[in-house]
Amino acid sequence: KVLEDINTQRKEIIGLLAANTAHEIKNPLTTIKGFVELLELEYDKEHKNQKFNIVKGELERINLIVSQFLLLGKPTNVEVETIDAREIVRDILIFLDYDLSMHNIRIVKQFTDEQTLINVSVDQFKQVLINLIQNAKDAMENSQPAILKIEVFNKDKKTIISLSDNGIGMDEQTINELFNPFYTTKLHGTGLGLPITKSIIDAHHGTIEVISDQTIGTEFRIAFDNVKA
Ligand code: ADP
Repeated sequence: KVLEDINTQRKEIIGLLAANTAHEIKNPLTTIKGFVELLELEYDKEHKNQKFNIVKGELERINLIVSQFLLLGKPTNVEVETIDAREIVRDILIFLDYDLSMHNIRIVKQFTDEQTLINVSVDQFKQVLINLIQNAKDAMENSQPAILKIEVFNKDKKTIISLSDNGIGMDEQTINELFNPFYTTKLHGTGLGLPITKSIIDAHHGTIEVISDQTIGTEFRIAFDNVKA
């Protein structure tokens, strides 16, 4: 119990530090980005100098990490509303439709006919779905066909949202470490998507589970208390 308290405190401090530092980095970063673009216009009118692209690419990468840091450090007291999980999932699929079809990903939806009301911050819940779908997309890069199955149903007073991909799956180490900040197996990964996902779900008193197999693929299962209509 004591250890747990220390860990929670540590996490809170790290969260605060991360958010403050991230904020402080954002401003100079924006300035640097602006001036690099100006320099490119002055010195490389025809945009043929790859060095500018490398600098801009790396700045973009820092920017992504810092933005994710900001999300990680967000206060855990979220404003929630009662909403049907099926509705949010549907909205997100419409939002991502173009991107997913560009990557030849087929979506199989299996939604219950029952109401699946949950108390969530809609924005944060959408962030969770976007993170998980982005990971599924990465994992299915070489899957043919690439199929992402999304289920929404009620079970034991919980509403479950399950996302199953037929991608590369995970090895034992990845399964054990995937929620640790900066753990990534990707060349250009940040390793912050799942820690953010987990902290959002924790703040909603929900749960997230993963079942993964390198021959079948990966299922993420998130559960929230179901609210009776
Ligand atoms: P990132 O995507 O930047 O690597 P994440 O925290 O989102 O960071 O994910 C951490 C790691 O978990 C990934 O690098 C990958 O190895 C593994 N992972 C997450 N989702 C999946 C998935 N659907 N299939 C296979 N591996 C996954």
